Amino acid sequence: MFITRRHFLTMLAASPLVMSPLGETQAAPSRVIVIGAGIAGLAAARALAEKGIAVTILEGRERIGGRIYTSHTWPDIPLDLGASWIHGQHKNPITDLAKAAQAQRVVTSYDSAALYIDPRLSKLGVKSANEAAIAKLVTQALNQANQLEQDISVKAAVDRVLTKPVSPSYQAQLDFYLNSKFEQEYSGSIATLSAQTMEDGKSFTGTDALFLQGYEQITNYLAQGLNIQLGQTVTKVAYGAKGVSVTTQHQTHTADYAIITVPLGVLKRNTIQFSPVLSRDKQIAIQRLGMGLLNKTYLRFPKVFWPKNIDWHEYLSPDKGRWVEWVSFAKIGAPVLLGFHAADTARTVENWTDQALVADAMKVLKTMFGNNIPQPVGAQITRWAKDPFAYGSYSFNAVGSTLQDRKNLAKPSGRLFWAGEATSSSYQGTVHGAYLSGVEAAKALLKLR
Ligand SMILES: Cc1cc2nc3c(=O)[nH]c(=O)nc-3n(C[C@H](O)[C@H](O)[C@H](O)COP(=O)(O)OP(=O)(O)OC[C@H]3O[C@@H](n4cnc5c(N)ncnc54)[C@H](O)[C@@H]3O)c2cc1C
Repeated sequence: MFITRRHFLTMLAASPLVMSPLGETQAAPSRVIVIGAGIAGLAAARALAEKGIAVTILEGRERIGGRIYTSHTWPDIPLDLGASWIHGQHKNPITDLAKAAQAQRVVTSYDSAALYIDPRLSKLGVKSANEAAIAKLVTQALNQANQLEQDISVKAAVDRVLTKPVSPSYQAQLDFYLNSKFEQEYSGSIATLSAQTMEDGKSFTGTDALFLQGYEQITNYLAQGLNIQLGQTVTKVAYGAKGVSVTTQHQTHTADYAIITVPLGVLKRNTIQFSPVLSRDKQIAIQRLGMGLLNKTYLRFPKVFWPKNIDWHEYLSPDKGRWVEWVSFAKIGAPVLLGFHAADTARTVENWTDQALVADAMKVLKTMFGNNIPQPVGAQITRWAKDPFAYGSYSFNAVGSTLQDRKNLAKPSGRLFWAGEATSSSYQGTVHGAYLSGVEAAKALLKLR
């Protein structure tokens, strides 16, 4: 709904005033604008709407879900181009939502894995990923880095403990370990991931599960009955003692409060002008935290030609970060393989054409499964770094960033409240972290009633 300035002022005059926890007099929220219809924005809007608050969500895209995006390009196999898994189903709020939405899930396990070794490494005598020994070295490197006064990157930490040059085969095993354990997990390059704070944060226990009909079942469930305006790209947010005004390419909307849930990548690009400018703490947090990259390549084949009962197919090669992890969808009856690229390699291959990427994937799959495998009948490829509503996949702790940066990002700025995965101190980079941050922002606003 478009509100005129006069209506806005009348509405503000009518708002009951309460004391905020900071001792300032603040109007109780009766109208709230949420920027972004990802899981954080939907969670916040739902919690507010349930308490009778008039909420409008302004979403730049022509769809809801943000980094939860189920593709129906292949109508018989819905595929998630953004988030796929509930990581740790036990006590995870997304598990409760999945149950409420009656969304069917399939468990996958990192223990169900096979390793394939590139022929160039086999020729050098490499037979395994040498994981136990490399894990020991990397743990030692990170422990030593933790004792340093100043933060360094994971790469710098590992380089410090490698006292003499290593063989090409050892280097490949080390790169494989660092890519699969850190870059694919946190989405940042080991050259920028913080050795001291990278692993800050918590996780839920239990199994990991995929959605048979797509993650969008969760966002669609949350969105029911909410007032969501699509195609509204916010360019300016003005806020003051009396309320907020939010400008999109079409119009200006006003409300008592706003909740900002746009991704860290968008905040880093300064595509939204804040007036007054954001606090220094917030600006430092936006600059210091990293926005990482994880991209997906789904390949559909005429039939399953790989072992059906193995979830993860891992590829150890001298080409750093190249097609290191593959997930099989054979378990759900789909002849589909999903290949991942993370961090620097993902940035490089984002610039390749679909054709070049598929050709490269096929070269690798042939070394893994033999020359006689069929050509794919289709491909779906993501390029999250180029997405103007995300500019990356999810946030990570870059060198020099601390937990306090996330807390500063989450802190209200007067009438602006903040949510989204990057604001989560406990579960950053995840769907559940984003969801919980939205619920928290709504709770903080409701306390003003
Ligand atoms: C490839 C990939 C794989 C992932 N895998 C997993 C996984 O398996 N499990 C997991 O838990 N997490 C995973 N994640 C992370 C997870 O998707 C995110 O943490 C979560 O979805 C973020 O939700 P959000 O609400 O914070 O942000 P978003 O979903 O990004 O929502 C923000 C919304 O703001 C909108 N917006 C941006 N700019 C503007 C603007 N100027 N005006 C108006 N609207 C704007 C966006 O369009 C978007 O809809 C993955 C992410 C990616 C990209």
